[in-house]
Amino acid sequence: MIRNLAVSALALGAMGCATTSYRAADVPAPVQAADSYFVKGANAVKARAATRATKPAKNVILFVGDGMGISTITAARIYAGQAKGLDGESYQLAMEKLPYSAFSKTYTHDAQVADSAPTAVAMTAGVKSYNGSIGVTQAANLKDCASAKTSGTTTLWELGKASGMATGVVSTATITHATPSAIYAETTERDWESDASMSAAGKAAGCKDIAAQLIDWTGSNGNGFDVIMGGGRANFMPNTVADPEYADRKGRRLDGRNLAEEWKAQAPNRTLVTDKAGFDAFDWTGAGQVFALFEPSHMQYDLDRNKTDKGEPSIAEMTRAAITRLSSNPKGFVLMVEGGRVDHGLHAGDAQRALGDAAALDEAIAAALAMTDADETLIIVTADHSHTLAMQGYPQRGNPILGLVKENDQLVLARDGKPYTTLSFANGPGSVCKEQPDKKWLCDRPDLTNVDTTALGFQQQALIPLGSETHGGEDVAIFASGPGANLFSGTVEQNEIFHVMAQSLRLTK
Ligand SMILES: [Zn+2]
Repeated sequence: MIRNLAVSALALGAMGCATTSYRAADVPAPVQAADSYFVKGANAVKARAATRATKPAKNVILFVGDGMGISTITAARIYAGQAKGLDGESYQLAMEKLPYSAFSKTYTHDAQVADSAPTAVAMTAGVKSYNGSIGVTQAANLKDCASAKTSGTTTLWELGKASGMATGVVSTATITHATPSAIYAETTERDWESDASMSAAGKAAGCKDIAAQLIDWTGSNGNGFDVIMGGGRANFMPNTVADPEYADRKGRRLDGRNLAEEWKAQAPNRTLVTDKAGFDAFDWTGAGQVFALFEPSHMQYDLDRNKTDKGEPSIAEMTRAAITRLSSNPKGFVLMVEGGRVDHGLHAGDAQRALGDAAALDEAIAAALAMTDADETLIIVTADHSHTLAMQGYPQRGNPILGLVKENDQLVLARDGKPYTTLSFANGPGSVCKEQPDKKWLCDRPDLTNVDTTALGFQQQALIPLGSETHGGEDVAIFASGPGANLFSGTVEQNEIFHVMAQSLRLTK
């Protein structure tokens, strides 16, 4: 949310820059600047900055591996190394080579274990808030969606836009999903991705779905994102219009609006992209704005990416393209890149697809590091929350990370006489407890002796039976490089990530 920023931005334009060569000196304070979490986070970062030499950042790239907890990073490291034929255990992911790191505390205003909505808001707007809500502070009332209108936040992307920076967002999930939408949307209901998902009461109260909010997002200087790439096309199309890629599918919207076409018509020099060919054809070195929606819902898992009709770019390809486009702005840029489906693989109890997406995200991080100057670009890699993935037993060095635990080349048997995999989940759809025809629950671990646990689609065993594996509440990692990265050390609150970015960009005081 921007209040009075348009006027202030004009005034700033007349004044020119003062503190750095590329930033407006006096971007107005975010509307949440008096929130208690905001104040505490800002002060914690300021206190660290006072004792450390820090430099201003020109650009920020925030990489979020959704659900990419530390056990997932460790497993992804071994997976990526082994996939390259190298020693997996000693392999280093690009993210692990960044010079600074810290732990991030992910609890929210109302929960010990977070969902992706308030954790994204912590990073994009510097406050802790309620599970399930986006772009609002603790002042929101989850039972009253209209309360979002009076409890909103100004995000880093809005502050950046106010000072003339370029802005972008890339996600492999729907672009209306919790993490990317925390840049531009304000809602008490993260599931209202299109109007088809909204309650009648919500519509009656004048609340707006997230896709509609994206089309209306202008930042403060009126022209919206320079780059938007992800999935979720159906949320922007009416349910009467056929999908451009899948002839048997249609849009989801009930209000008849074709938001993607509306976005294109809002301003000149705008391009809509729906497939790899369109992605390849776009002039990323030009000044045009691009809105790319590669799938009706989420983009494919990286391991499935080349199986679709018209193909999709990888997250590394999208990252390279976004940086190329955004870096033409001399005032700098703010970019989020989300590996959104690490989380989905884990929820499905499908470790391999999650690790495939984590490894693909790491390639995007490597691409960004190669394209940017560490003297001017702050790069942060983190997760919004963890999952219940466990790495267990005493598997021998070089054992396939997706395999059964072996010691001395022999399968290790549990007390039930059966082998077990190195990776498993505490809960989820792979539970060994199943409901019987007589409605009683029986826990009986299947024998994996003759099962190829490395086959794509294998579901790791879990204990507690849940339809969807849950998030985990332990701290997640932050890795960082560039100006301001040295403000990360020890264990920090998740919302301090916003304050490191905003203070390093000199967008907040
Ligand atoms: Zn999740």
